[in-house]
Amino acid sequence: MIAVAEALDKLFALVDPLDTETIDLARAGGRVLAAPVEARRDQPPFAASAMDGYALKSVEAMRDAQFLVVGESVAGRRYDGRVGPGQAVRIFTGAPVPEGADRVVIQEDVRRDGKLISLLEEPEDSLNIRPAGTDFTAGTQVDAPRRLGPMDVALLAAMNIGRVTVTRRPRVALISTGDELVLPGEDPGPDQIIASNTFGLKVMLEAAGAEVHLLPIARDTTASLTTAFDLARGADLVVTIGGASVGDYDLVGDVAAQLGMNQSFYKVAMRPGKPLMAGRIDGAAMVGLPGNPVSALVCGEVFLRPMIDGFLGLGKAPAPRRQAVLSQPLGPNGPREHYMRATLGPEGIQAFDRQDSGLLSVLTRANALLVRPPRDAAREIGETVDYLPL
Ligand code: AMP
Ligand code: MG
Repeated sequence: MIAVAEALDKLFALVDPLDTETIDLARAGGRVLAAPVEARRDQPPFAASAMDGYALKSVEAMRDAQFLVVGESVAGRRYDGRVGPGQAVRIFTGAPVPEGADRVVIQEDVRRDGKLISLLEEPEDSLNIRPAGTDFTAGTQVDAPRRLGPMDVALLAAMNIGRVTVTRRPRVALISTGDELVLPGEDPGPDQIIASNTFGLKVMLEAAGAEVHLLPIARDTTASLTTAFDLARGADLVVTIGGASVGDYDLVGDVAAQLGMNQSFYKVAMRPGKPLMAGRIDGAAMVGLPGNPVSALVCGEVFLRPMIDGFLGLGKAPAPRRQAVLSQPLGPNGPREHYMRATLGPEGIQAFDRQDSGLLSVLTRANALLVRPPRDAAREIGETVDYLPL
């Protein structure tokens, strides 16, 4: 049995950043930018008005001053002339500030009378002008690797980047194993349960940036498992669920070995999730998760998500931990690192009483996994503990 950190290192050794592809910006949300990009232009490309009002000369702007309105500058259509002494140009937000003007007086501070305006107030401090390039200039770089969120995509669009080079999504094959399993929506027999883990893991890993394929449920036979591994060919990561323990029908390890898996480890000193196995099979990384739903999903957070980041070129690091103060005491921990289902609120963090690894209903109510080191002593209210946000 190895420690969680060691298991993660061995998993990372199975992961290399994938190749890249170039895609339309409109499809780039959630993808990982693979190479830095540079802005193709200045933004704004000209000095632009920040308000609706009148462009004029700052030196002339004072209360009761009068100006002749000589034209109009609209977003998308500038005023071509020059603003001379005693003149103003009607201007709108985003429009180019005409030559000769260096201030925009907001329309609320102006009285208009035909072609004449007069200023009702002393002008504000702000000139209400966005200088050319004030947001970014041509050549401004967006660094990579970077997971592209909505704000990043907007910035790249403003930079006139129509297509971006991103890391290919890792292909993940998910295989549920077990004679007792049927799919959600099917008609289960009296001894059957519904395969749930794969569905949760699919959502989790897709959110992490993977392309996830749910394979048909494999039965607890060598033939069925062999077929499942066959169907998983071409995946970057093959994940089996269940059948990894020591029962008579736990055949995943044996079948994977027959198919030439080079095993990296079996069993990790953690709760839940002890019977975890990993290795390389057919050039793909293979992880065998325990079947209990909470074990599988916790292992997904602790191991699979960081592996997906590794495939995406985002580095190889454990899920970042945070700290919180206990709002309930904890008893001493056993020899395995414990990922306790917990709730974090304004008063601190507290673990659920029921920690059985079959309880999905508890897991869904948790918003944190409280992490206890092996053999951690009993802890009092007010002590600081580590957690992983869910
Ligand atoms: P195993 O590791 O195959 O012994 O499975 C441990 C427990 O997890 C058993 O109660 C299984 O019925 C259950 N289990 C295995 N796979 C799944 C799955 N995909 N969805 C929900 N429960 C599962
Ligand atoms: Mg099983």
